[in-house]
Amino acid sequence: MSITVRNDLTLPPPELLARFDVMGPRYTSYPTADRFVEAFDSTLYGTWLGSVGATVARRPLSLYVHLPFCSTICYCRACNKVITQDRARTGGYLDALQVEAELVAARLGGASEVGQLHFRGGSPTFLDEEELHRTIGMLAERFPLEAARKGQGETSIEVDARTCPPEKVRVLAELGFNRMSVGVQDFEPAVQEASNRLQEFDATQATIEAARARGFKSINIDLIYGLPGQSRETFARTLDKVLVLSPDRIALYHYPHVPDRFKPQRRIAAADLPSPAERVGIMYDAVVRLTATGYRYIGMDHFAKGNDELARAQALGRLHRNFQGYSTRPDCDVIGLGPSAVSKIGPIYAQNTRELDEYYDRLRNRMLPTARGVLLDRDDLVRRSVMMALMCHFEVSKEAIATAHLIVFDEYFRLEIEGLKDLVDAGLVEINPEWISITAKGRLLVRAIAMRFDHYLRRDQRLRNYSRVL
Ligand code: SF4
Repeated sequence: MSITVRNDLTLPPPELLARFDVMGPRYTSYPTADRFVEAFDSTLYGTWLGSVGATVARRPLSLYVHLPFCSTICYCRACNKVITQDRARTGGYLDALQVEAELVAARLGGASEVGQLHFRGGSPTFLDEEELHRTIGMLAERFPLEAARKGQGETSIEVDARTCPPEKVRVLAELGFNRMSVGVQDFEPAVQEASNRLQEFDATQATIEAARARGFKSINIDLIYGLPGQSRETFARTLDKVLVLSPDRIALYHYPHVPDRFKPQRRIAAADLPSPAERVGIMYDAVVRLTATGYRYIGMDHFAKGNDELARAQALGRLHRNFQGYSTRPDCDVIGLGPSAVSKIGPIYAQNTRELDEYYDRLRNRMLPTARGVLLDRDDLVRRSVMMALMCHFEVSKEAIATAHLIVFDEYFRLEIEGLKDLVDAGLVEINPEWISITAKGRLLVRAIAMRFDHYLRRDQRLRNYSRVL
C-alpha cells in the first residue's frame, strides 16, 4: 500500500520500490565521471582554462578544494581520503595545492569573481588554524575571492565535529565560511562502534550551535541508513537527536555494502546489517518523520526546511545540480583543486588523478595533474538538460528542451519514451504532449527514472560500480 506523506510525496509499496531499486549513478555530472577518458589530458584542460580568461562575458566561477586527510577511518564511507596521525603531511600537501593553484590561475589569465568556494574532504577541519589561514590566503592571492571572504558568496566546508570545536568554528567564520555540512551518519553508540566512527552528540551540538552563533546561513547533516546494528528503533533515536539540532538541510544516504570494492567495509559483518525489509522501513520512517517536521524532499537523498534557500529555489524552478549536489546557483564554471577533484569549463569536464603520489609527481614537474576528462557533444548536452530538470524539478517541459536544443522532443527521445512504459504503468511517471512528470509516488525513485535518459547506460550496462538508488 502507498503512504502519502505530503501532497507532493508518496511512499510506494515496498514491492514496487524493490522492483525499480536498481544500481545507478548519483549524477552530479552527466556524463558521469566513470565515462571520462584519458585522451582528455592536461594539455586539453589547460587550453579550456585559457578560454575562460579570453571570454568577454565571463561566467561566474566556483572553486572546489579537496582536502583529503582524516585521523581515523570510517568503515562505512567509500570516500577519497588519506588516513594519518602525522600532522606534518599537511604542509607538503598544501605546497602541492599551491603549485596547482598557480598553474591554473596562470592559464586563466584573470578570472571572474569566485561566487562559490567549497572545501571538501576527507576532513577539511583536519587542518589547524594556521593551515586553514594559509589555504585561504594562498587561494586569495591567485583568485578573486573578495566576495567569498566577506561572506557574500556561497562559502561552504565539510566539517568533522570531532576536529571542529567551537574555537575552530570561529576561525572558519573569520575566513568567510557561511555554510557547513556536518558528517554524523548515526548517533547510536553501537552503530558508531560498528562503523568505527565515534562521535559524541554533545560535541556535534557544540559545533552546530557555535556555527549558528557565528552567523552560518545553512547547516547540513549527513545521515546514513542501512548501517550495521541499525534498526527502525535505533534510527528513531538518532532522528530524535538530529531534530534537536534542527539542521537546515539533511542528506539521508543509504549504506552500500560492497566489501569487494571498498576494503574497509570488510570489517563490517554482513550479518550485522539490517535486513532489506528493515532497511526500507528505516528509510520510510525517516521520510515520514522528516516531512512531518517541516522538511521538504528535494530529491536524490536530500531534504531541506521549507524556508531554506534550496527549498525556495525548487519552488521557484531555480534549482541546479552539480558536483556539490543541489545548488541554488546557476550553471557556472568550476575549478577543482586537489587529487580526484573535477573541474567543469563550458562543455568540458576534467578530473585530477586520484593518486596522491602521482598528484605530487605531476606538480613537482609543474604539470597540471589532469588524469581524464570529456568534451560533451550535442547529445550529451540535450540529455544533461533533461536529466537535470527531472532531478531538480521532477518534470521536464518538452517544449523548453526542444527550443533550447533545436530538436523535436518526441522524435529525439522516441526510444526513451517507449522505455518509460513500465514506470507509467506503475503510476510513477506521467507523460502528456507537453510534459514528462514524475508523480508523487515516483519521486523517491527519481534517480532510477533519470537513468532512462542516460545514453551511456543504454549503450553499455556497466552498473556494477554504482550504488543502489535507494
Ligand atoms: S571522516 Fe569522512 S572522509 Fe574521513 S574516513 Fe570518515 S567518512 Fe571518510
